[in-house]
Amino acid sequence: MKQKACKKSFHILIDADNFFASCEQAFSPQWRHKPLGVLTHNDGLIIARSARLKALGVKMGTPVWHIADLIKKHGIIIVSGNHELYDDMSMRMMGIIRQYFPHMEEYSIDEAFAYAVDRDPEKIYAQCMTLQRDIRRSIGINVSIGIAPTKTLAKIAADIAKHDKVDKVHRIDAGATDPNYPVEQIWGIGRQTTKKLLARGITDVGGLLSLSNNDVRRIGGANLLRTRYELLGVPALPPRTYQTQKTISHARSFGKPVTALSAVAAALSVYTVQACIRLRAQQTVAGKLQVRLTLTERQATNSTSPHPLYQHLSVTVPLPRPTNATQEIIAHALQALYKIYQPHRQYKKVGITLSDIAPTSAIQYTLFDTQKAGDGYSTRIYQTQKQHRIDTAIDHINAKYGKNLILPATALCSDSWYPKQAKRTPRYTTRWREVIRMDDTNVCSLLYNRHPVRYNLDRKLVPVLPLEHDANHPPATNRLCSPHPPSQKSP
Ligand SMILES: [Mg+2]
Repeated sequence: MKQKACKKSFHILIDADNFFASCEQAFSPQWRHKPLGVLTHNDGLIIARSARLKALGVKMGTPVWHIADLIKKHGIIIVSGNHELYDDMSMRMMGIIRQYFPHMEEYSIDEAFAYAVDRDPEKIYAQCMTLQRDIRRSIGINVSIGIAPTKTLAKIAADIAKHDKVDKVHRIDAGATDPNYPVEQIWGIGRQTTKKLLARGITDVGGLLSLSNNDVRRIGGANLLRTRYELLGVPALPPRTYQTQKTISHARSFGKPVTALSAVAAALSVYTVQACIRLRAQQTVAGKLQVRLTLTERQATNSTSPHPLYQHLSVTVPLPRPTNATQEIIAHALQALYKIYQPHRQYKKVGITLSDIAPTSAIQYTLFDTQKAGDGYSTRIYQTQKQHRIDTAIDHINAKYGKNLILPATALCSDSWYPKQAKRTPRYTTRWREVIRMDDTNVCSLLYNRHPVRYNLDRKLVPVLPLEHDANHPPATNRLCSPHPPSQKSP
């Protein structure tokens, strides 16, 4: 129902549909209409599903071996998580959104809130339709867009748009919320609050709005009261402010059990680099670090440890002074590792946690740090600033040309710890060696969405099966894919 055009403020939620699966399908058009699942870091669980896989009833977090029969029966395509590709596609999508709506907030990897103030709602609707087409044409991703006076209503509008087969853009005006929208699907209402509401017979938006403010506050506190205001069309959630993390952790399981110290140290160095990047991104320094090692189940069971299944070894060390310099933190992390590492044991995981985090401006130098050296600079301060410039330059290079392109030498001592990721697709947009190769076959495929893409990592074209092999659905004779998963040289 069209309302009289009036200039108001609007919240717009742009949400990519099945983002990880869509990124894979954008570069492999032959997968567009097939059930597709994306796996976790070590190829264990399904963390993202295409619409067709959802329709088969496969839940998030399902172990891939639980659905082995289903994979064969329906020709489900399973790929390892290609997070470098997803991060880059997200960055491109956010860039396009910013061109249309400069006032925006990146809410997650595949969602953004945009704000339009004092503009005609009909024009905003038309602009969103253009934005949607632009994103689809530029990066091959479908997005659903919700327009509403508040964030919560925009979320509901985007959810309705997602199920709309035609426009995929939906607008909700103040006071026009669907009263039958289920309460458990409202953004911002958690599981415990939902239970309390259902226990009182409140099952939908209409029921929630019929409660008084006092009742709402009694059931779910200030958060639920804010949600109620938002549902009434009164903005109660300000733009999300960037919050500094109090601790930063990075830990991953190895692709296979590891015994060698060099392999554990290499993994720890890479994870420390990632933690330091996050530390610098929020302009903070750390005062303490903890290194954790986890033994394999078999090793822990056979050991004399009182813990029957897992044995976690950890050590916490204070840093001599708060810092965010990668080189310095890696040196202390490795010293900590040497304290807990036991030879001839099998390890399955290593991780680091940085704590005592404070703003960079809070660094206090000592009286001796400010003593001037021969070159006229304060020795310690000059070294700190120089190291910070080097780290920042490396962060920029890695962000632009591929994650972990420049790493400390300790990270390159061993590759036996690399995650499995046996079915990872090429990182098309960030690695020159893995850039998609255009020829007649895939021009046809990308333009008409009919034939499979031809790509190759080693500059060779070899006719083999694609990543999934299904005897019941033999591939077309012209289907040419890389015979091997992409190089695992980089973690
Ligand atoms: Mg999404």
